[in-house]
This record gives sequence, C-alpha cells and structure tokens, in this order.
Amino acid sequence: MANLIQLLHKTGYKYTKPRQLVSEVLESHAEHLSANEIWEAVSQLDPTIGRMSVYRTLDLFTQLGYIRPATRNAADIRNGIVYVMMHDGHHHHIICQNCGQVIEFEDCNLDKLVETLEKKYNCRIGGHLLEFFGVCDKCLRVA
Ligand SMILES: [Zn+2]
Ligand SMILES: [Zn+2]
Ligand SMILES: [Zn+2]
Repeated sequence: MANLIQLLHKTGYKYTKPRQLVSEVLESHAEHLSANEIWEAVSQLDPTIGRMSVYRTLDLFTQLGYIRPATRNAADIRNGIVYVMMHDGHHHHIICQNCGQVIEFEDCNLDKLVETLEKKYNCRIGGHLLEFFGVCDKCLRVA
C-alpha cells in the first residue's frame, strides 16, 4: 500500500490532523489496536481530537483499503475488533482459540488462488486478510 498522504491525495481526501495522528498511532504500534485503544493513544498526542473523529477516520481508512478490521480474543467485545495495516496488500494470522495468542506470518503462496478467483468471478482482488484458528503450540503442550 502506498503511503497515506499519496493515497488520500489520489482519492481526493485531505491530510487532516486526525488522519495524520491515527496513522501515526497505527504505525508506531506493533500490536493491532481496537478503535477504542486507537482513540486513547490519539488523545494522548492531542486531547482536542474527539472519539467520533477517530472512528470516522478508521471508517475512511478501511474504505480506502489502508487498514482492515480483524478479530482478536477479548472479554470486552468493543475491543474484540482490531485494525490491521495493509502495507503489503495482505496480512495473515493464526489465532489460538484457547489463549487468544495471535501468530503473524508472511508467506501465504496465494498468488495462484487470487488469479483463479479473479478469472472465475471476473473481479480484481486488491488484497486479503487471512485468519486461521486452532490451538497454539503452548496450549497443545498443556492439554
Ligand atoms: Zn494458545
Ligand atoms: Zn497481524
Ligand atoms: Zn497473503
């Protein structure tokens, strides 16, 4: 994914303060954050930016394909959806259903499938977010 300033420019959106700060927060956290956590981090950088403004920014970023919502195990459902940056156009998780651990992996070898799907459905695929779920190494050993 091209950088945000170029992406916003290309799609006719301005690089506003909330958009800048939300992207800074996303870039500076290795872990994926929920909308609520992103808002909390943004308000530490600039307390004048409201929650709705952050939420609207997340909706716009999702619409533009800059981020995608993904799931994680959380007791609080509002923190169960997190945002993943789609820098390389694809992103992959293995999630442990027992402890909630998320394993990140890079190689998916899905080029052939993407090609097949584009032909079959006459569409153009811009990226993918893949979630495998099961039981992690640590939980398997305890069981
Ligand atoms: Zn586990
Ligand atoms: Zn991830
Ligand atoms: Zn992939």
